[in-house]
Amino acid sequence: MAHIIDGKKIAAATRAEIAERAKKLTEETGIVPGLAVVIVGEDPASKVYVRNKKKACEEAGFYSRVIELSEDTPEAELLSRLEEIKADPKIHGILVQLPLPPQIDPDKVIAAIPPEKDVDAFHPENVGHIMIGDYRFLPCTPAGVMKMLETEGIEVRGKNCVVIGRSNIVGKPMAMLLMHADGTVTICHSKTKNLAEITRRADILVSSVGKAGFVTADMVGEGAVVIDVGMNRNAEGKLCGDVDFAAVSEKASAITPVPGGVGVMTITMLLENTVRAAEAAAGRA
Ligand code: NAP
Repeated sequence: MAHIIDGKKIAAATRAEIAERAKKLTEETGIVPGLAVVIVGEDPASKVYVRNKKKACEEAGFYSRVIELSEDTPEAELLSRLEEIKADPKIHGILVQLPLPPQIDPDKVIAAIPPEKDVDAFHPENVGHIMIGDYRFLPCTPAGVMKMLETEGIEVRGKNCVVIGRSNIVGKPMAMLLMHADGTVTICHSKTKNLAEITRRADILVSSVGKAGFVTADMVGEGAVVIDVGMNRNAEGKLCGDVDFAAVSEKASAITPVPGGVGVMTITMLLENTVRAAEAAAGRA
């Protein structure tokens, strides 16, 4: 039976360290790390994420601003609101919750966030930093996964790492981080042939597909570490990952649950990036 990697416990310990860093920064410089989160529209999942980000900021002693805009907000109006937020000296990190309504081009919005305040690390300049391995900001979800592996003492060096999914937000930066940690990385996607044959060879398998029950026990090798990034709703409307947790737990050596796994780590790394941005603003980069 697999060891269950407790994301909540790792996140709590990491957040306590971040809160300590924020407190020290405020005591020594008067600067309180500040995060602005912009949400456009009424997507229920996005609203939950934004609420959780605000709560996490408050618990870490940060200042936070949530800017809620209606679903029909024109792109130009969002860009002009960003100008105002960029000029707010209390704000060190800015993120725009994705997805955006169809009238808004997400690439334009991401490019409008100053790279030094882009705590989601989506700006092309920060993506370049990730590629080079000199991180200004950590890509939140993949960095959360790396933190879990590190805390659990799971060595990446020399391991066969398989990432299912190649999105800009999860799959690609996940592969980069594993490669920079000296893993031998294979990236799979919807056009990959013989997927199960590849995933069965993984020492560390990361699934970021977005389909409930996608990773079945026959796709997992005996003793593999299985990281489930997926956040889906099952037939009963319950939050679940990509992995058939019960069956895969019988074969894996370690596994992350959903909820209580990667999700809580993603927000934790967002806090880390925000405190980092505030430290940089104070000349402590
Ligand atoms: P995405 O942009 O939809 O990417 C999904 C990836 O899965 C794509 O690369 C796609 O391949 C691949 N895929 C789809 N069907 C496949 C198949 N049959 N076989 C192999 N690969 C397949 O999604 P995302 O933004 O990366 O998010 C993925 C999941 O992670 C979602 O459930 C999302 O909610 C969750 N998520 C969780 C967190 C967290 O904090 N835990 C953060 C972000 C996202 P193609 O490229 O070929 O289409």
